[in-house]
Amino acid sequence: MRQFLKQIMATNRTFTMIKPDAVAAGHIGGILEQIIKSGFKLVAMKYTTLSPEKAGQFYEVHKERPFYGELCQFMSSGPIVAAILEKDNAIEDFRKLIGATDPAKAEVGTIRQKFAQSISANAVHGSDSDDNAKIEGDFFFSAFERF
Ligand code: GDP
Ligand code: MG
Repeated sequence: MRQFLKQIMATNRTFTMIKPDAVAAGHIGGILEQIIKSGFKLVAMKYTTLSPEKAGQFYEVHKERPFYGELCQFMSSGPIVAAILEKDNAIEDFRKLIGATDPAKAEVGTIRQKFAQSISANAVHGSDSDDNAKIEGDFFFSAFERF
C-alpha cells in the first residue's frame, strides 16, 4: 500500500532549495509564504549546508558546463533550505512559480524576479522532471524523514 501510494503520488512532487543568496538576504519566510500560498504542501524540509563536494554531486549533470565551478562554490557558500513539495502538476507549476533561470528574464511576480540577484545567485532551485525530483529529494532526505 505504501509503495502504491508513493507511486501514484510521485508525479505530484517536486524538490526545491532556497539557495544561499536568498537565505543570507533574509528571504526564507517570504519565499516559503509564496510557495505555500500557491498551493504547495511541505512533505519534508531542512535547514542545512552543502559542502563543495556535496554541491558538486548534486549538480553533477552540469559538470561540463562552464559555470559548474562557480555554481558549486556558490551553493556551498552558506546555509540553504531543502524541501520536498507536493501539489497536482508539481514540477510544471513550481517551475512557473519560480520563473526563468535568469531573474532579469523572469516574469513579474515570480520568486526569482522578486528575490533573486543574478543568473547564478537565483534564489531557488526547482526540479525539472519527476525522475529528478525523486533523485534530488532522496539526496537530502532519508526514508524516515519523508513519506
Ligand atoms: P534552473 O533549472 O533554472 O535552475 O537552471 P539550470 O538547471 O540550467 O542551471 C542550474 C543552476 O546553475 C542555475 O539555477 C544557476 O544557479 C546556475 N546557472 C545556470 N546558468 C548559469 C550561467 O550561465 N552562469 C552562471 N554563473 N550560473 C548559471
Ligand atoms: Mg535545472
